[in-house]
Amino acid sequence: MNKGLEVARGKTKVLYEKPGQPDVLIVRAFDAITAGDGARRDEIAGKGRIAAKTTARVFRLLNLTGLPTHYLSGGEDDDDNEMLVRRCTMLPLEVVVRGVAAGSLVRRKPGIARGSVLVPRLVEFFFKDDANHDPLIEPDDIVHRGIATPQEIGLMTEVARIAFEILAHAWRRRETLLVDLKIEFGRLIGGEGRGSLVIADVIDNDSWRIWPQGREELMLDKQAYRNLEKATPADLERVRENYETVAEAVGTFPSLRPGMAALVADGQTSLGILDPIAAALQIFGLQTLRKVVSTHLVPGYVLQTVQQLDATFSRMVYVASGPQLAAMLSASTPTPVFDATEYDADELALGIAKTLALDDTIMFGRVLLVQANARSAVLHADAQINAPPQQAVLG
Ligand code: 5GP
Repeated sequence: MNKGLEVARGKTKVLYEKPGQPDVLIVRAFDAITAGDGARRDEIAGKGRIAAKTTARVFRLLNLTGLPTHYLSGGEDDDDNEMLVRRCTMLPLEVVVRGVAAGSLVRRKPGIARGSVLVPRLVEFFFKDDANHDPLIEPDDIVHRGIATPQEIGLMTEVARIAFEILAHAWRRRETLLVDLKIEFGRLIGGEGRGSLVIADVIDNDSWRIWPQGREELMLDKQAYRNLEKATPADLERVRENYETVAEAVGTFPSLRPGMAALVADGQTSLGILDPIAAALQIFGLQTLRKVVSTHLVPGYVLQTVQQLDATFSRMVYVASGPQLAAMLSASTPTPVFDATEYDADELALGIAKTLALDDTIMFGRVLLVQANARSAVLHADAQINAPPQQAVLG
């Protein structure tokens, strides 16, 4: 890729300007692996390629769920390990989400048993400072140092937790426990959403602990390298193989499994009942189809329609326009059936998305995001209603 000036260089990557696009950077991953804040360093041929693939696939998954990230494209093809990202000013923070106690947490807090499940997830901030081994930093200190506002800390905490849950869901579907995760945030310097925080930097096999079958001794992540006193060529080859295995598994994360909501009206006059549901489903990016049947005029056609749809779509739910049709559908198909008159449209759409999210990580992430937005809308409305009346601005 045609590159401009070098903007920054880290232990495992370098960033360049993209000629003609001031808001875009090129990130290139190296073959280096480091531990102990850079005290140990090795080269693993092909690691940059594998790291770029992993990061690109993780970011593509997060983007598909609707989480804000800096990732635009690249990193997965024959493109010299190069990704295009939106240019940000990085916050000097590592945001760590923990679902299971391990690592520095159990060293700092011996009262917490290693391997215990943490609910709610614990979110910690570390100040990026290699010389002082990235110390823990409290939220009020982050504000005091002018790194982020209290609102931004709240946002980072929420976004980091959601990113963790999405990746934990993806790994769980592959019988693997996501123990913890480190992400970093940047502030967009231009374009849409200028000034807002997005997940930036990289998320690769260096950024998390993952334990296949929940067993620490089977770990596939960078901790296996950190645990080595000195890495022999055979050790490095094992680490490379683990990184390759992880990149391949992560390659299957960003695929939306085709899901379908079949909206079935009992007579054409009932079609209108289904319109708000079709609209509410759009927020989850779910496909819909409509059918008109009649339980009392052509009951045989209801059964024929169900058999046809069941034979065509593997991941589907039915929404019936009323209780009589819902009962008839329920009795004749193993596919889930919802009665549109029992729920309001948003509630029903959420229920359908949750059903399909069981085995679809993108849908799972969209559900988490819709729920988080609903929570934040309530808090915002509450803050507005209790806010002192605005003073008129004299002009
Ligand atoms: P801990 O604080 O327990 O050492 O690490 C918590 C999580 O953050 C682990 O998943 C670990 O891999 C990740 N992590 C901590 N520090 C760093 C760092 O400097 N670089 C990277 N890539 N990950 C880190």
